[in-house]
Amino acid sequence: MILSIANYNEPVLRKKGEPISAFDENLNALFHDMVETMHHADGIGLAAQQVRRALQFCVVDLRDSPSPFQAVLDGRENLPPELYMPLALANPKVTVLPGEHTVFEEGCLSFPDIRGDVERPGHIRVDYQDLEGSSHILETDGILARCILHEVDHLNGVLFIDRMERKTVKSLETKLKILKRQTRDAMKAS
Ligand SMILES: [Zn+2]
Repeated sequence: MILSIANYNEPVLRKKGEPISAFDENLNALFHDMVETMHHADGIGLAAQQVRRALQFCVVDLRDSPSPFQAVLDGRENLPPELYMPLALANPKVTVLPGEHTVFEEGCLSFPDIRGDVERPGHIRVDYQDLEGSSHILETDGILARCILHEVDHLNGVLFIDRMERKTVKSLETKLKILKRQTRDAMKAS
């Protein structure tokens, strides 16, 4: 089922997610709905907050991404992405690994038509649980690291505009103001 996506400035986007404790059919259903919603919106990642559920849970799918990344999953290198994507990340904890930070223009499904440069660490480790509650360790870089960092920020109520340089946010000011107004009107109408 395709879910509706919460746009900036809905309060749920600022909520820290509750940890996932039940790895049951409800979580499985949420995963499938979120993946369907993300694909329908042409996104590469989606956090539970964006479908109005404040949980430590997000999905990522980079099978069609032209941007490169390396991934070591539970110590295994060069796994085909088809084996582990769409990725379900429950209770993810990110550790930044040594390496260069990178700047890249990001978008966000909660900010339609708004894009801006964001600097992020280039190399990370993420400890997470899958849909069955099994623990995994993923070390990655490139677009996958960036996407996970963006989604894990959502799980803590942090948005990409919080990570942008002041001048970048300034250049988006008008668009953000319009989006805020649209969100307010939509919330009043619902
Ligand atoms: Zn986002």
